[in-house]
Amino acid sequence: MNFYPLIVSDIIEETSLAKSITFQLEDKYRSTFNYQAGQFLSLRLPWEDSFLDRSYSLSSSPNENSQLKITVKRVLDGRASNLLNDTLKIGDIVDVAAPTGRFIPTANNIPITLFAAGSGITPIISIIRHTLKQTELSISLFYANSNENQIIFEQELEQLNKEYPDRFNCLHHLSSDNGRVNKIVIKHFIDSRIQQDFFICGPGPFMDLTESVLQELGVDDKTIFIERFISDAESTLDPETLINTNIKSFNAILDGEQHSVPYLGDKTLLESMLAHNLKPAYFCQKARCGMCTVTKVTGDVAMRNSEILSKGDIEKGQILLCQSLPLTDDILVNCDTD
Ligand SMILES: Cc1cc2nc3c(=O)[nH]c(=O)nc-3n(C[C@H](O)[C@H](O)[C@H](O)COP(=O)(O)OP(=O)(O)OC[C@H]3O[C@@H](n4cnc5c(N)ncnc54)[C@H](O)[C@@H]3O)c2cc1C
Repeated sequence: MNFYPLIVSDIIEETSLAKSITFQLEDKYRSTFNYQAGQFLSLRLPWEDSFLDRSYSLSSSPNENSQLKITVKRVLDGRASNLLNDTLKIGDIVDVAAPTGRFIPTANNIPITLFAAGSGITPIISIIRHTLKQTELSISLFYANSNENQIIFEQELEQLNKEYPDRFNCLHHLSSDNGRVNKIVIKHFIDSRIQQDFFICGPGPFMDLTESVLQELGVDDKTIFIERFISDAESTLDPETLINTNIKSFNAILDGEQHSVPYLGDKTLLESMLAHNLKPAYFCQKARCGMCTVTKVTGDVAMRNSEILSKGDIEKGQILLCQSLPLTDDILVNCDTD
């Protein structure tokens, strides 16, 4: 992955825990940094003798202005998030990789309902602004926060409400006033509007709850989109899972061609592909960014960690190459599908 030195052009305090950081885009990088609403940037930050790779969703929207904006919320004892909130200055240079991500508006041309909690608003606000400007679709947002002081983009959301009163409505849920988000609150918000595109971003339990309510209501999995802000992902693989170390190879479709890839016992499918000079899209190799998500066409794998994928993703056959170990010898993965 290539990183480009971008200059910090502005820093905005959104709440006591979150700052937006704007990067100036020089003409030479403009096409590299073209992006779609909902995508994210990956930053490489110096840390002690090494570096930290972290992803941050773009809270700006394409075609609005020439600057890229991310919004970073502090994580308790988190390294990168506190570094960015505490020490970054206007004029600093940060190594940033080109935008990527699959949490983007669809061409379904149906109304959109979005669920955000905390910093999960970042890709969501990008999608909202873009969709309001570029389409005639109506949009509903459910936005949960611990209390009013932690609402990121409160004024901007209010402004959008005023600008698009017939097309945009936003319900704020504050745990300080209304308790934690629960099934009833979500069901009530969705009402009977299940023929929509649903976008969800926030802490794990919030996303899991929302996804399960949508599934209970019979929403088509193909219209549910989830962005997971995973931190360091521990292995969730059941130690009892029997990894088949006798497997000699697996098949992978990449750039329209099918390859037989020698499997390096004990390694992941991604590591085996890289060793075989095949380069599917990937970045963090830690189950954080989701860039190496591919579709498993046949065979079985065990993933060391799959938290970033929703139940729906897994049912559709999606796997993370960087976490997958083979269980059977008939594996075919398609790296060309989204
Ligand atoms: C696609 C994507 C988009 C994202 N978009 C955003 C966004 O728009 N805004 C945003 O704020 N975040 C976003 N994130 C999350 C972001 O990438 C980081 O994960 C987040 O900022 C935390 O990183 P950190 O370095 O501060 O925390 P880390 O230092 O990685 O720490 C994370 C947690 O682990 C604990 N921890 C750290 N080190 C150790 C250790 N050695 N042992 C035990 N525990 C430890 C910390 O206490 C902390 O609770 C996104 C993530 C992804 C994958």
